[in-house]
Amino acid sequence: MKDLYQFFDDESSTYTYLLIDADTKEAVIIDPVDQHLNQYMTLLANEHLKLKLVLETHAHADHITSAGALCSLTGARAATPAHCKITAAEIQLADGQALIFGKQQVIQAIHTPGHTAGAMTYFWNGKLFTGDSLLINGCGRTDFQNGDAGALYDSITRRLFSYPDETLVYPCHDYDGNTFSTIGHERRHNQRIAGRSREEFIRIMDALDLPPPKMIDKAIPANMKLGLNLRHAAGS
Ligand code: FE
Repeated sequence: MKDLYQFFDDESSTYTYLLIDADTKEAVIIDPVDQHLNQYMTLLANEHLKLKLVLETHAHADHITSAGALCSLTGARAATPAHCKITAAEIQLADGQALIFGKQQVIQAIHTPGHTAGAMTYFWNGKLFTGDSLLINGCGRTDFQNGDAGALYDSITRRLFSYPDETLVYPCHDYDGNTFSTIGHERRHNQRIAGRSREEFIRIMDALDLPPPKMIDKAIPANMKLGLNLRHAAGS
């Protein structure tokens, strides 16, 4: 049985991941998007999966999560980075904390601040789910939610690039149709950071001058509550 499903939201170019323990059929979802709730529920039902945990890499500014709704519908527990202050989540994750599901499946939380102050990467089974900290040939912006370009440089170069070359990278977004990368490829080819000094990286990030995400005023307050779960849970 497949142990990883990848979903894509066209509107926000967001990837969502479903991790599966084949022995027990227990599952974990990372960064679910609200419009795709039914798609996740259908897959869980069709594959007879039991959702145990719903993880967020950070409080997203460009889409609304379906974490709250998934927890209401399945009995899964939400786990979010403690520094994101998503107080509605039952589990507040500290750096290095391990989450267990299935038969000895371990997910490790790695604090990778910079895109947002609280952002976490999750490591499971040779794969890094990097959120917006490290994208394929890019990285998340650092100009809101206490973003910090210097902190992001340190998170990527000291923490993520400390993993072996063959470690797979699964980001929260891709705008070019890529589905995954590796640490070795990003270390050598990522245009934002490969071969650049910390100062150079900070200059590049400070000069981006991007417009705010369209959804920011709606998405962040909703995501601090794990999304608009009551609407979904009521089935309307
Ligand atoms: Fe983000």
